[in-house]
Amino acid sequence: MIWTMAQHFLLSAAARTLSLKAVARMSDQEALEAFQAIRWQDNAGLPYCPKCGCVGVYKYETRKLWKCKGCNHQFSVTSGTIFAGRKMSIKDYLLAIAIFVNGAKGISALQLSRDLDVQYKTAFVLAHKLREALNGGDKGKVSGNVEIDGAYFGGYVKPANWKTNRRDRRLAENQTGKRRVVVIMRERNGKTLPFVFKSEDAAVKTIENHVMPGSTIFADEAASWDSLHDRYLTKRINHSEAYSDGEACTNQAESFFSRLRRAEIGTHHHISGPYLASYAGEMSWREDNRRLSNGELYLIATNAALKAPVSRQWKGYWQRAA
Ligand SMILES: [Zn+2]
Repeated sequence: MIWTMAQHFLLSAAARTLSLKAVARMSDQEALEAFQAIRWQDNAGLPYCPKCGCVGVYKYETRKLWKCKGCNHQFSVTSGTIFAGRKMSIKDYLLAIAIFVNGAKGISALQLSRDLDVQYKTAFVLAHKLREALNGGDKGKVSGNVEIDGAYFGGYVKPANWKTNRRDRRLAENQTGKRRVVVIMRERNGKTLPFVFKSEDAAVKTIENHVMPGSTIFADEAASWDSLHDRYLTKRINHSEAYSDGEACTNQAESFFSRLRRAEIGTHHHISGPYLASYAGEMSWREDNRRLSNGELYLIATNAALKAPVSRQWKGYWQRAA
C-alpha cells in the first residue's frame, strides 16, 4: 500500500530533487512544505484532519498547527505519525532519513548522532523508529520460486585466553541462550520476508503461513526443512557438495544474509537480542529495493514514516526507561 501511494508521487518533479544535498540547503519553511507534500500527497499536499479525515481546517500561522473544523482536533505535520512528539526540527528529520537511506550496510546510532549533532539516545530511538516504519504492516506472502534459508546471530561467547581455560562452546551449558536464527523466505526476483526464531525447526509453521501453496521451495540440506516436502515441491542443495547444481540453489537467500552479516560486522557490531528482527527487516528492505535510486528510496522511507502510526515501542522510550 505504501508503495503504490509513493509511486504516484515518485513521478513528480519534487521527488527527483530530494537528496541529502537538497535537504541541507532547505529553509525550515521549505522542509515543512516537503513534509506536507509527502504526508498529504493524496490531497495535493493540503492538510486534512488525521482524526476524522475532514478537509476543512483552520491554520495557526505562528504555531505551524492546524485545527479541524469538524472535530476541533489540533494537529501538526507529524501528529499521529512515527515522528509524533518530535524534539528536532522537520529539516533534521529529513536529513536523518537521507543519511539512513544512504547507508547500504545500515547506519549506527553513533554515526547518526555525530552526523546530526544530536544525543546518542535521540539518534538510537530515531533509527529504530525508521526501522519500525519500514518494517510495518503485514508482511504478506510469497509465491513462485521461493528460497528458504537460516543463519544464526548473536550470543557470542568469547573464548578464554588460555587454552586450558577454554570450554566447548558447542555445548548448550556453555552458551548464552541469546543466539537466534534469522530465517528468510525469498521469492526469486521478488520480496524477502525475514523472521527470527530460536531454532530453524520453529520456523516451519511460519513458512507454511507465508509461502503460498503451489510454490516451489529451494532449501539446503538442513533436516529442519524435511517436513516442507509434505506441502511443497521442495528442491534441496547440499552445500557440502556444491552451491548450485544448475537447478537447486539458495543464492538469493545467501545474498540477503551477506548484507545482514556486513551490517552486523561493519556497522552495528552486535545485532542480537530484541532488535535482531528489526535489523533483519531493515536489511530486507534495502535488499528488495537495491535497484532504486537514492531519491526514490528517500521518498519511500519518508512516506513510510509519515504513514506509520505513533510507535508504541519507541515514543517516549527514554522517559519510560528513566
Ligand atoms: Zn477532525
